[in-house]
Amino acid sequence: MVLVDLATGKVVTDPEEVARVLEPSADEAALAAAVGGNAGPIAISFPSFVDGRGFSLARLLRERHGFKGEIRAVGSLIPDHGQFLLRSGFDTAEIADPDAASVWKASIERIGRNYQPAARNTLPLRWGASEKTALELNKILSETDDLVPRIKEIAGAIEGRIAFSSSLGLEDQAILHAVAKSGADIDVFTLDTGRLFPEVLETIELSELRFRTRIRLVVPDADEVEELVARDGVYGFRQSIENRKTCCEIRKVRPLNRALEGAQGWITGLRREHSDVRAGVPLAAWDVEHGLIKINPVADWTTETLMDYLKANNVPVNPLHEKGFVSIGCAPCTRAVKPGEDPRAGRWWWETEDKKECGLHVGADQEGKAA
Ligand code: SF4
Repeated sequence: MVLVDLATGKVVTDPEEVARVLEPSADEAALAAAVGGNAGPIAISFPSFVDGRGFSLARLLRERHGFKGEIRAVGSLIPDHGQFLLRSGFDTAEIADPDAASVWKASIERIGRNYQPAARNTLPLRWGASEKTALELNKILSETDDLVPRIKEIAGAIEGRIAFSSSLGLEDQAILHAVAKSGADIDVFTLDTGRLFPEVLETIELSELRFRTRIRLVVPDADEVEELVARDGVYGFRQSIENRKTCCEIRKVRPLNRALEGAQGWITGLRREHSDVRAGVPLAAWDVEHGLIKINPVADWTTETLMDYLKANNVPVNPLHEKGFVSIGCAPCTRAVKPGEDPRAGRWWWETEDKKECGLHVGADQEGKAA
């Protein structure tokens, strides 16, 4: 038996040992048990090549249980299964004949583009058009640095729901002002992680009154938070980077993904000056991760431009900014920074990692990809 990598069609020379094998009859409890605390690949058994239950199990592991590790197909498999396995979320398949790997590869490559999104290859057919729109929008937005016209261009260019994720930071408040002034129909939401500063909540209310709008609060899954706190403790995110990333995943990333489901555009307040990691943030780009156009309408603004805009338009801002807080996230993970310090230095300051991101903005330094 050899293992074939479904993405490349190559034989895996040094496969990891399987941590658990799921039978096709596995129920929700078995899936949860397989994922819980699992550090190795999960194998799903196909006792017969006409038994398709394993495809559903892989998709549930990816989409419902958020499993990110390797999923391996084992059992009665034929090369024609390759595409379906890949799209259902499998990474590898165990095959009897090493020479058949090239046949598997050819089978997988036979279909170049898929019409429907799936657990893997999440791009629907509109990908081509939307990527083109993103490129055109990026060009149009670069022709002005006025925020209200930029918001109008965004609203005019994208069909369907445009979501704006606001953390009530300075950039987001400028964008919120411009959205209100433009009259554009934008779905404004914020991630209520349960650990926000009271000042953030005050800023939400003040902004709603001032701009006569409602800022939708998106909360994490209560069961997931309960499990996390029961396992790691209330401040478990201080114990390790891994714990911290899990906390951000549950309290921020998954709720964000839910809030973006079905949206065609996603507006953020990312700016290139924030950090080296964000230095290449485009004004608009196709976001492969979420399958939408991600727009960063103040990406190219300097701090001076931003502060001038806020002052000129008397935009309400979080009072913590006056106390030295620059980038404001959850209360236990944010501190004030000294003048001249990196704005991101006040986030997870006990960590030494270079790229201190919470996972909301994947590949923020890669122009043309998710920012
Ligand atoms: S910023 Fe801190 S409290 Fe907030 S989700 Fe991340 S680790 Fe958890």
